[in-house]
Amino acid sequence: MSGSGYVLGVLGKKQHDAIAERVARNDAAFREANERIRDAARSMELDDDLLIPFICECADVECTEIVKLSGEEYEAVRTDPTRFLNARNHEMSARGWARVVDEFDRYTIVEKVEDAAEVAAELDPRQEEPA
Ligand SMILES: [Zn+2]
Repeated sequence: MSGSGYVLGVLGKKQHDAIAERVARNDAAFREANERIRDAARSMELDDDLLIPFICECADVECTEIVKLSGEEYEAVRTDPTRFLNARNHEMSARGWARVVDEFDRYTIVEKVEDAAEVAAELDPRQEEPA
């Protein structure tokens, strides 16, 4: 088939961006759920050392892994809009759109890269509207 190489090339690029978008959106949805968990923990005035069950924020839509972090540890992840908490080894599901920045016994902190980072920052509920 003539011309299919060109079409594939274009689709390939598009698909790449779509994966980045999906990775970031999925993670952002879990992040919103975790923000509510964090708020609930705060309103119950739980000790900041107490481990709170958060949802893994990896790119796998099927993932339901629970990751336990203290309020303080969670806040440390949240200081950067492109950073997400993942269960150990779950960064693989981002298929190259995230890199590990820190690893702990209970969880991993990953940072979104390029397109995925942009989408993640846009969707951060804590980000102010750009002036
Ligand atoms: Zn996961």
